[in-house]
Amino acid sequence: MALVYLPLEILIGFLLQEQERLRESFEFFSLDFVYILRMISGRCAACKYLRRRCPSDCIFSPYFPSNNPQRFACVHRIHGACNVAKMLQQLPAEHLRAEAANSLYYEAQCRTRDPVYGCVGIISSLHQQIHSVESQLAKTKAEIAVLDSLAQQPAQIQ
Ligand SMILES: [Zn+2]
Repeated sequence: MALVYLPLEILIGFLLQEQERLRESFEFFSLDFVYILRMISGRCAACKYLRRRCPSDCIFSPYFPSNNPQRFACVHRIHGACNVAKMLQQLPAEHLRAEAANSLYYEAQCRTRDPVYGCVGIISSLHQQIHSVESQLAKTKAEIAVLDSLAQQPAQIQ
């Protein structure tokens, strides 16, 4: 029976590893930490990159701290600073903007790594893995049902 479960355990282990890797790809920032950095450095990463003054109500500054210029450069290269500013301004709440900035960064990273599929490549791959694991699970359940029915049959006396 242990041999029946082994491939399923390996597939589930792979899925859990992939999920953890995706979680680590996101960079979450404490807003307090970002504000402290901004007070020290003066300009956020976006304003430094765009070579402009960083206004007190800069739309980028809470989400693109000066200590991580690569974060804004990556997002700007894929989405464009103007589009990012528009997207962030359309969101009403601070925490939604932070989530959107993280999402834009993740999408930009994926698009940089895979110019054809971007993050859809990862989503598609995970869908295929889920489908494969579900098929394996259904097969294993069917095998268990067959083994259960064989075990319940009375032993034949020859
Ligand atoms: Zn700024």
